[in-house]
Amino acid sequence: MPPKKRKAIESNEERDKRLATIRERVARSRNSETAEHREARLQEMRNRAAKTRASETQQQREARLNDLRNRATTSRASETQQQREVRLQQIRDRTRRSRTDEYSDLQCEALFYDPHIDYAHHASINIGKMDLICRNCQAKKFKSEPPGLCCNNGKLKLNQLDPLPQELLKYTTGDTPQSRHFLSNIRKYNSCFQMTSFGATSVINQLGFQSTFTVQGQIYHKAGSLLPLPNQQPKFLQLYFIGNDQVETDQRCANNSGTRREIVSDLQQMFHAHNIYIKTFETSIDHMPTDAYKIIIKADRKPAGEHERRFNAPVVDEVAVVISGNEFEKRDIVLQLRSGSLQRICETHRSYDALQYPILFPYGEDGYHFNLRQVNPTTGIPTSAKVSAMDYYAYRLMIRGTKQNHVINCRQLFHQFIVDMYVKIESERVNVYILSPGYETKNVVYKQVLNKKDS
Ligand SMILES: [Zn+2]
Repeated sequence: MPPKKRKAIESNEERDKRLATIRERVARSRNSETAEHREARLQEMRNRAAKTRASETQQQREARLNDLRNRATTSRASETQQQREVRLQQIRDRTRRSRTDEYSDLQCEALFYDPHIDYAHHASINIGKMDLICRNCQAKKFKSEPPGLCCNNGKLKLNQLDPLPQELLKYTTGDTPQSRHFLSNIRKYNSCFQMTSFGATSVINQLGFQSTFTVQGQIYHKAGSLLPLPNQQPKFLQLYFIGNDQVETDQRCANNSGTRREIVSDLQQMFHAHNIYIKTFETSIDHMPTDAYKIIIKADRKPAGEHERRFNAPVVDEVAVVISGNEFEKRDIVLQLRSGSLQRICETHRSYDALQYPILFPYGEDGYHFNLRQVNPTTGIPTSAKVSAMDYYAYRLMIRGTKQNHVINCRQLFHQFIVDMYVKIESERVNVYILSPGYETKNVVYKQVLNKKDS
């Protein structure tokens, strides 16, 4: 009898019975198959599926995926709590098994290194080429990187950093002995010029091959006054205003052993010529007749659209204002002419990055701040949604077009920078969490988490 006709006349009961028989037969046959037979059968199924999928059109593919999604949704909606737990446990087991299998042939491989093996081509190591281009921001990516990683699917649009000044660029290429020395000691050179001090509850810096930069607890950037107190040595920002190039270079080299005088001198001239903070402070000091005057750097830039500009570095009148009163806000930086006290810089202040990392941001480019707004991916018009610190720094670390991203070429300084910025991201998350609706309960939970972290 032709199957169609049989199906048409069989009752539901008969149908269930027939399907149960088929299932039993299949189960019996699979129970008796050997491992090789099983592998051959699965491989044949995989080949058949691959062949079918290769020939399907985009429309058919979308219909198939949609059907699969609908089936999964229906099945999950009807499952009990117990079934759900079993399913999730199976997924976890499968993932663990596949990860163990994937790397099993690399177990302790470093201890048995064989120079004849090209490890870069190992299936578990080879992550492919960075040849995927984001259609929104043109960032280059690897195939497993998620689409929103670079620019939150087009919602983020930041200016590219300006090319480095020639004086600094020549030291970052790594193709001369001088530049190789500079790159190997890049944190020392940054320390020579940083305008704020860097501190953490505990810094663990493991040098050597694959050096790592680790901090424990909190990170602090602190700023002192513009000029030292009488009979005190100038430090950090104060070094820029000594007024004598030779003495300034000598003092920087004395503070940082292992640095070369000619490089320090070159970079010193470059910062005096290009860094917007140094240029502004130099002129501002002349307008501060007494110690009662202060320089204020606002924490956030004006909202986008209020001030159009071409370059990332703020223009002189945007950087700072000189005041004699107390018209500033809690997050602003207040620099006094002479004072023995230090001010902790708020990590979400726009100058936080530039004051600590002059080698990464030689012009004094703004870092993350609260007035950055997302844009509509289609129209490019700013929306009311804020840009998160996480999205901001993910955007900054990407490579776009043929331009080099010098920030990620700065070796140990880059390590310090990303650790520092990650702490900023975490601290922003804590603030958003505590200040969001229902914060009373969350606040208690978070304080417990923080206390645990600190203890
Ligand atoms: Zn993108």
